[in-house]
Amino acid sequence: MRFELLLPRSLPEALEMKKTHGEKAKVLAGGTDLLVLLKDRKLKAEVVMSLSGIRDLNFIRAEKGRGVTLGALATHSSVAASPVIRRQFPDLAEACFQVSCVQIQNLGTVGGNLCNASPAADAAPPLLLADAILILASTRGERRVSIHDFFLAPRQTVLQPDEILKEIFIPEVSGRRGATYLKLGRRRAMEIAIVGVGVAVHLNGSDQVASKCRIALGSVAPTPLRARKAEGILTGQEITDQLIEEAAEVAAKEASPISDIRGGAEYRLDMIRVLCRRAARAALARAQGKQVEV
Ligand SMILES: Cc1cc2nc3c(=O)[nH]c(=O)nc-3n(C[C@H](O)[C@H](O)[C@H](O)COP(=O)(O)OP(=O)(O)OC[C@H]3O[C@@H](n4cnc5c(N)ncnc54)[C@H](O)[C@@H]3O)c2cc1C
Repeated sequence: MRFELLLPRSLPEALEMKKTHGEKAKVLAGGTDLLVLLKDRKLKAEVVMSLSGIRDLNFIRAEKGRGVTLGALATHSSVAASPVIRRQFPDLAEACFQVSCVQIQNLGTVGGNLCNASPAADAAPPLLLADAILILASTRGERRVSIHDFFLAPRQTVLQPDEILKEIFIPEVSGRRGATYLKLGRRRAMEIAIVGVGVAVHLNGSDQVASKCRIALGSVAPTPLRARKAEGILTGQEITDQLIEEAAEVAAKEASPISDIRGGAEYRLDMIRVLCRRAARAALARAQGKQVEV
């Protein structure tokens, strides 16, 4: 594994380097995906550009009335421990807390999790629920891309060869919202998701009628996805156990899982139903102001 290592000290410097080297320069954040791929020779890189010297990219910033911004170097540990994330987006904190183990959480970034574009990326479902916006930068300027348009296929995103993910913006949510992310693995740590399910329920007035409902699935399709038909079943309705069952059935139909070493396709479909039911109940209870441990 031999490559030239670039160590920019500022974002403009990094963008100039990316412009010069383009696709040849692989961006290194925490390295927990990239270095494994390079070591296993699944990826070749002539040049690796580490972002570690750009301190400005390591932050979590909350702005009242706007939302929360994560810098590209915000780690899973810092996001999981952030009081503002835990309060406003507990599902994202839960997802980051369930990534592998403390060591990987300390190194791995939420930005790297998204740019790696694994269907099993734990941070993706909560950010899909929250309509996150990704700010992509290049020497040509910045563009804002909805997370819904970011993933193209396994390990493929809309990032251009000269672009770097600079920030992730999570718009503030008004009103009562409850959300959770549940992950199924063969064990509780050091495990890639067999299935990941995030559900967010928004209440407006009634304690039982969802004004809006969001369901996002991981590890069950080529990219993380929203289960929009299932969301439609719960939206605007009084949420009963029967309706949750129905939505969970439909969510499973929206997935297209494969069978792999972690689990069969049929098993994954079953587990979507189970996790969807549990997550919907927990999200509703949280929206109602109840304390729910998942
Ligand atoms: C033992 C182990 C266990 C793991 N368990 C889990 C798990 O449970 N759940 C899970 O979701 N993941 C898991 N992972 C994968 C990995 O830890 C996460 O995806 C992590 O968030 C990646 O972040 P990183 O900062 O290390 O990314 P890196 O490895 O640095 O980069 C990943 C990819 O994104 C690109 N990239 C990174 N940052 C940027 C940027 N700012 N702009 C443009 N491109 C960028 C890189 O070029 C590379 O292609 C595991 C990995 C290991 C080694």
